Amino acid sequence: MAGQSDPGSNALGAIVTGGAKGIGLAISKELLRRGYGVTIAGRDEGSISSAIESIRDECRSAPVLGAVIDVTDTESVRAAFLKAHGFAPLAAVVSNAGTIAREKAEELEESQWSTVLETNLSGMFRCARAAFPFLREHGGGAIVNIGSIGGGVGISGRVAYTASKAGIEGLTRTLALEWARWGIRVNTVAPGWTRTAMVEAGIASGKLDEHALEARIPLGRLANPSEIADVVGYLVSAQASYITGQTLVVDGGITVNGNS
Ligand code: NDP
Repeated sequence: MAGQSDPGSNALGAIVTGGAKGIGLAISKELLRRGYGVTIAGRDEGSISSAIESIRDECRSAPVLGAVIDVTDTESVRAAFLKAHGFAPLAAVVSNAGTIAREKAEELEESQWSTVLETNLSGMFRCARAAFPFLREHGGGAIVNIGSIGGGVGISGRVAYTASKAGIEGLTRTLALEWARWGIRVNTVAPGWTRTAMVEAGIASGKLDEHALEARIPLGRLANPSEIADVVGYLVSAQASYITGQTLVVDGGITVNGNS
């Protein structure tokens, strides 16, 4: 993996799971812009190296580290968070890693259900628990879980995905309650349709109709990953110091569209 640059003794640390691609990569870049020493955590070393190289092309001394993580594995999560905290003391945690299965409920294999729930929901629980001692030691911090508009509305052919994303909102609310006393804020960002590999794959397979989608989105287009990252950057910042337990929907208005 590409080498690291020292974040400096005063820099705070952030970790982004699934931080090498799509929305996660945009979040990693946003947190670097905000001065964090950022650990990009993902399963695939090659993608992490490419992400770090692309960041270094823009800024040679960017304080960024790669860590291998599989959010379905508790030991792997612990090791990655320990590595990230050693790089720069953790103050911000973005649980972004996610996966999807696009099958009708009656056709979905139980193993697909388990993989989606283990990754999207249990993975965020594991990451939050791995982060907790570091954030408490720091005197507080911010956790942002990446949900989806599918946490608040049904989407046909996404039964495991929408169940997992609805679960994330419940996880977020209760963690926010339990950890407020330590100054740890926990929020969910729920993106709408965003132009990443996950959505491009759905379009390529014919399971998503891009033009029909755009017609239903009041702002008339899919989101760019940076538009989701901006909101995450805000939620970890001091400007959001009184926001906890919330879900912030970033969807171009699609979920308020009741027009026929
Ligand atoms: P991508 O498929 O581009 O990225 C998913 C990321 O999750 C990858 O970096 C992948 O890493 C990582 N990942 C998957 N499984 C694991 C695992 N077990 N352990 C560690 N990392 C894992 O998707 P997006 O960027 O589109 O999605 C990012 C998040 O945003 C997801 O939570 C998704 O549900 C959510 N979202 C996306 C929307 C969209 O329209 N794109 C809309 C609403 C929500 P690797 O490749 O290394 O496995």
